[in-house]
Amino acid sequence: MSHLDPDRLALIAVGETPTDAEHAHLRTCDACSLELAELEHAVAVGRSTVTLGELETPPERVWNGILDEIRSQQAAAPEVRLDSPTAVEASAPLAAAQPGAPRTQRRGWMLFALAASIAAVLLVVGVWNIVRPSQPVEIASATLDAFPDHPGAAGTARVTELADGERTLTVKLDDSEAGDGFREVWLITADASALVSLGELDGRKGTFAVPDDIDLRDYVLVDISQEPLDGDPGHSGDSIVRGELSFG
Ligand SMILES: [Zn+2]
Repeated sequence: MSHLDPDRLALIAVGETPTDAEHAHLRTCDACSLELAELEHAVAVGRSTVTLGELETPPERVWNGILDEIRSQQAAAPEVRLDSPTAVEASAPLAAAQPGAPRTQRRGWMLFALAASIAAVLLVVGVWNIVRPSQPVEIASATLDAFPDHPGAAGTARVTELADGERTLTVKLDDSEAGDGFREVWLITADASALVSLGELDGRKGTFAVPDDIDLRDYVLVDISQEPLDGDPGHSGDSIVRGELSFG
């Protein structure tokens, strides 16, 4: 059998499985196996040198450079028949710096393989960017100040929002008191005419979902109260800390 087509070698280098015949030829032909090794090296370099950060904006300038080089080299060597054994033999041994059209054509295929490899990585990262959970963005925060009955208490609150609009409030409370009952986290309107409970604070830190129908520009106060175990779902009136959200 004649040597393997360069396009087959390029495809094998980027991950396609060789046929049995191709596999058998690669085992016995130094020229083709060396060619494949060179292509695989180019692919590996292409994959390893493209970092995730750079992929956010595809390197179009680099990409165009690769395409230009392929086009110009194909134009410079229009007569070469890639499947001709003569042409392929002329390019071996590849390690030697041998000028000439077949060698140049091969270089074009290597660059094509490299470009295909980068395209595959870009595709994977693009899909990942679509399916991965979005990063929460902080939209408001507050410093929570102690009420006179709870000297020394302090806290912070922070509201984050996901791309889908889901908001969460995270509070931290520093309070040395260890009273009976439990602590509860509230959102309260500026004039204290309305309030909503977000839930019980277990420990010093908690994260709570903000109900969709709550406008934080109205419910601008974050409050943590000390609640007795009296079965009354309302606010006890015993606030530990409170603070007003400021929106970034
Ligand atoms: Zn061969």
